[in-house]
Amino acid sequence: MSDFIDRLNSPTTQVSDGPLPSKKGWGKAPFCGNKAHYFELIYDDSIGPHGREKYWVALCGVDAVTADRVPMFSAGSWKRCKNCERRANHG
Ligand SMILES: [Zn+2]
Repeated sequence: MSDFIDRLNSPTTQVSDGPLPSKKGWGKAPFCGNKAHYFELIYDDSIGPHGREKYWVALCGVDAVTADRVPMFSAGSWKRCKNCERRANHG
């Protein structure tokens, strides 16, 4: 157990809380850099090879496509994008 906590506290370990449960919020997209962005779900009505695909756009303009098998993860301890943070704080 202490091992586990050590790993959580390590600055090099970034953990996610699991798939983002809502259509909006801090998320870490697969294949999209190493930061979390404030994503908003734009559409989710196409089916691709990995299941239902979702198209997201972040406040800073970054976009991402996820699918059932490669979902958007909630941000957890990922470093947050400064641009998104500023925009999220100021409406
Ligand atoms: Zn961003």
